Amino acid sequence: MSNSQEEKRNEPFRIAIIGGGIGGLFCALAIHHHHHHHHQSTTPPSQDGNIDGVNKSKRAIQIDVYEQAPEYREIGAGVGVGINAARLLHRLGLGPGLVMVAGRRQGTWFTFRRFEDSGEVVSIPDADAEPGDVRQSPCARSDLLELFLAAGAAGLHTEKACAGVTALDDDVDGAKGKVEVRFRDGTSTIADLVVGCDGVHSVVRDQFVTDANNKSVESGMIAYRGIVPTSALAQDWPFAHWSNIWVAKHRHFLSYPIADNTQLNVVAFVTKRLGGGRAINDAAEIESNKYKNIRESWSSLCDREEVVADFAGFDAPVQRVIGLMDERPGRWKINDHEPLGRWHFAGGRVVLVGDAAHAMLPHMGAGAGQSIEDGWILGRVVAEYLEGGSSSSSNERFKSLESTMQFYQDIRLPRAQKVQAASRVGGNLYELQTEEMSRLSYEDCLPVLAESMRQRMKFVWSEDVDDSYNRMREE
Ligand SMILES: Cc1cc2nc3c(=O)[nH]c(=O)nc-3n(C[C@H](O)[C@H](O)[C@H](O)COP(=O)(O)OP(=O)(O)OC[C@H]3O[C@@H](n4cnc5c(N)ncnc54)[C@H](O)[C@@H]3O)c2cc1C
Repeated sequence: MSNSQEEKRNEPFRIAIIGGGIGGLFCALAIHHHHHHHHQSTTPPSQDGNIDGVNKSKRAIQIDVYEQAPEYREIGAGVGVGINAARLLHRLGLGPGLVMVAGRRQGTWFTFRRFEDSGEVVSIPDADAEPGDVRQSPCARSDLLELFLAAGAAGLHTEKACAGVTALDDDVDGAKGKVEVRFRDGTSTIADLVVGCDGVHSVVRDQFVTDANNKSVESGMIAYRGIVPTSALAQDWPFAHWSNIWVAKHRHFLSYPIADNTQLNVVAFVTKRLGGGRAINDAAEIESNKYKNIRESWSSLCDREEVVADFAGFDAPVQRVIGLMDERPGRWKINDHEPLGRWHFAGGRVVLVGDAAHAMLPHMGAGAGQSIEDGWILGRVVAEYLEGGSSSSSNERFKSLESTMQFYQDIRLPRAQKVQAASRVGGNLYELQTEEMSRLSYEDCLPVLAESMRQRMKFVWSEDVDDSYNRMREE
């Protein structure tokens, strides 16, 4: 081995993760886990990122997460972690922590109910037929982030907003073949691999995807968000569990338990414009014009009176829940993103994960789960790539970073985009406004909803991404 090759081998493979949300933090854990799984760690974490040492013949890695926010605050309410994603957290050793912070659905994913009298339309079982404690795990987003942070696989750098990245193709200071990451504070860093986990407004994505299809899409729906204590509702709560969706034309009121069932997460959806286009009525036209220029945001608020007005006529339990919401609940515009054709750039040195790659509507409760699946698979391919370099692997696809990232995309893109498309349909189903339903009365819509719900979540939950990975790896 020449001196420079020797030097390269001794240098850790540097991974810069942009965005420390659910996708970014889980991705750091998964990369660390899979690398560690293949090798014994010998080097303790450094101050500056976590260097995971390996035995002498294998390359070490260093993982850094760059998050724009100054601190982790309690923004955001509940997120669904489907059984497909819960399984991966358990494999990573986070099972006990997840069980502690998740809500329990008591066998029912959701019961769909008539808005005016809570009569049952259909109950969907939660598909918990797994060994041990693996189950559907709805959580407060902040609890999940805390769980990931405590597991600490990476050096975390807050107040580091990425401004852009540059693939270095000239040999300046030996950085040829690497990527420079520039931050808004004027600083920069160099990495071998940049993972864009910077969410729906991703700057990493926007730098590389410049075609007209790279745009956020308005669903025409808004959602009011809040968290209320179950203790204030427990007395005289007329249902056997906390997972209910009350449906009306153009409105649905959804609730599920988080935080060990001490809190009820509430998301109350209202369509103002069908498919983002025609307003459903004159009042909605006037109202939605008010939001026209509001960028979709996870932190905008409104007056509770707006929730009261939009859910007038809903049954008493719904009115009780609304009465317990903050005076200033969250009000979010519900948007997604057009599907992308490509998730990796600059010869595989830049890759997308989570909402940056496939921002979806929340109606399958699957966005966080898809970003967790991405992180898991990215962890597996990175470990194989780093092994491939040591010639122990004969699998051609891990010989270059580009073919490695293409394999990640081949596994993840079709599935994430299937969930993304199904989420669009889901919202219109719950609001009884699919094309078929738009011709039907409220009463006639309900059996259509019931029939369609019995099947449509199965493909999300039943997939074990490790099985797909192992199968596709041998193809
Ligand atoms: C504050 C917040 C609250 C949310 N609350 C909910 C909720 O209650 N329910 C729900 O279903 N979903 C919520 N989501 C979305 C949900 O977390 C994601 O849909 C899903 O988990 C996929 O995660 P992600 O990591 O891809 O994206 P996100 O969770 O959106 O994470 C992206 C991260 O990147 C950071 N970031 C963005 N731009 C830059 C940049 N230029 N440089 C560095 N860092 C950057 C952001 O601050 C954020 O931490 C929320 C997202 C955010 C950011």
